[in-house]
Amino acid sequence: MSEEPAIKAVEEIASQLGEKYVLIEDLDRSAYSYDASGMRHVPSAVVRPTETEDISFIIEVANRYGVPLVPRGSGTSLVGGPLPIEGGIVVDMQMMNKIIDKDDYTGLVRAETGLRVYDLNNILPGRFMPINPDGTGFSTIGGLIAEDAASPLSVKYSTMAAMVLGLEVVLPTGEALLVEQPGPPSKRNILDLLIGSEGTLGIFTSALLKLPLKPKHRVAYRIEMIDISDAISIQTAVKREEISIAGFEAYHNYKELIGEGGAEAISFLEISGTEECVDVWGSKLRSIFKELDIPFEEISINEADDIWIRRKSIYELAKRREVAMRVVSLQVHTHLTRDAIQEVDRTGSRLKLPVVTVFNPLLGWVMAIFLYDPTDEREIERTDKAASNVIDRAIALGGSIGFGVGAGITKITSDMDEGFVSTFSKVKEAVDPNWIMNPGKLIER
Ligand SMILES: Cc1cc2nc3c(=O)[nH]c(=O)nc-3n(C[C@H](O)[C@H](O)[C@H](O)COP(=O)(O)OP(=O)(O)OC[C@H]3O[C@@H](n4cnc5c(N)ncnc54)[C@H](O)[C@@H]3O)c2cc1C
Repeated sequence: MSEEPAIKAVEEIASQLGEKYVLIEDLDRSAYSYDASGMRHVPSAVVRPTETEDISFIIEVANRYGVPLVPRGSGTSLVGGPLPIEGGIVVDMQMMNKIIDKDDYTGLVRAETGLRVYDLNNILPGRFMPINPDGTGFSTIGGLIAEDAASPLSVKYSTMAAMVLGLEVVLPTGEALLVEQPGPPSKRNILDLLIGSEGTLGIFTSALLKLPLKPKHRVAYRIEMIDISDAISIQTAVKREEISIAGFEAYHNYKELIGEGGAEAISFLEISGTEECVDVWGSKLRSIFKELDIPFEEISINEADDIWIRRKSIYELAKRREVAMRVVSLQVHTHLTRDAIQEVDRTGSRLKLPVVTVFNPLLGWVMAIFLYDPTDEREIERTDKAASNVIDRAIALGGSIGFGVGAGITKITSDMDEGFVSTFSKVKEAVDPNWIMNPGKLIER
């Protein structure tokens, strides 16, 4: 696409918002050209709005010049979500980070969407934000809602959607809408369509969230497994014993990354609640580990917090090895978790690509991370093949893609979810006839 329309659009935006809210230097554009996946696409410019009216104006100008707009939070996406793969202007939401309103008693917080999880965690006494996917609290509320993000604690707290009671969104027509229904889930409306829309249906400017209470007691375990079957056996036993798990996550083929031996799979598990519940569940869990002959270690809560933060080490190691990651997030029925992981392994070895899987058998969630050299065309081709292969296998298992992390550049197809794709496409056509909002993501044009 020619840069000409984007340059004209940027000039108009700069004259309305002020020069300092528009970045056009190579260095700045380069800083916005990547996300946590390691892929790169350089935008024509970056705009940094401070209020909803700015966004309406930016959208109006982009429509007039036919220039794509790509909303961006902190850029922690693993699937290229905030990358301008069809060119255009990145809309950096991080300057819109104010708390608008809060209520200590009900746990309700209204905040602008550029606010980070880290800041949200210290706002209400005794409450917290359990959805902290990157582990460091760096992701923004807007990014979490756009991806309907998950985290290791999603076993207990579900995904971001469970926390969202209202949203202000500027549609691709430039119109600002307030969609709010602070009632029971059965009363929900268009909110469910917006949550998880991956920046394709509009730009979220503020959100009404309900934060849960921090649990009074927590106990965590580190488990060393011989192979993935151990995780599945734990899952079966936990269900049988009706133990309420707060968080569970396992890493398979971890040694691919660290390049040395050790356990085939490691896993972390957390329980939380009242002292009595945690005592009972803890003792049942220890019996299960012994019965299955799985080595385990009870770890302190500080260590557990540290482990959830250290999830990011996978991505840091990938960066250090100068490889990019093609992440495909799959969700299957929980009893098929092992089959999905085996399909991922088979695909990796057939296409000669190292692959690490992060999985949660209690959610049927399997995140396949293929490692590849982003400068090698043949490897890129093999990686694309690997992604579509595991998607086909997930569909064959009755599963879907995009859980938590989003579909991003991989996109969802009608083979996976005909009803969703057809409804979503019709809504997209209606609100974004010029396809300016984050094109190339989530669904095919
Ligand atoms: C180490 C690590 C581990 C991770 N693990 C998980 C995990 O287990 N589960 C999980 O769900 N995610 C995980 N992620 C992915 C990531 O944290 C989430 O996708 C997060 O929700 C993105 O937030 P962000 O603010 O960085 O958004 P960005 O990455 O900037 O953007 C993500 C998407 O949201 C859109 N967007 C951003 N802001 C807005 C807005 N205001 N309005 C409309 N659209 C917007 C963008 O266009 C893009 O499509 C992980 C990331 C890392 C680095």
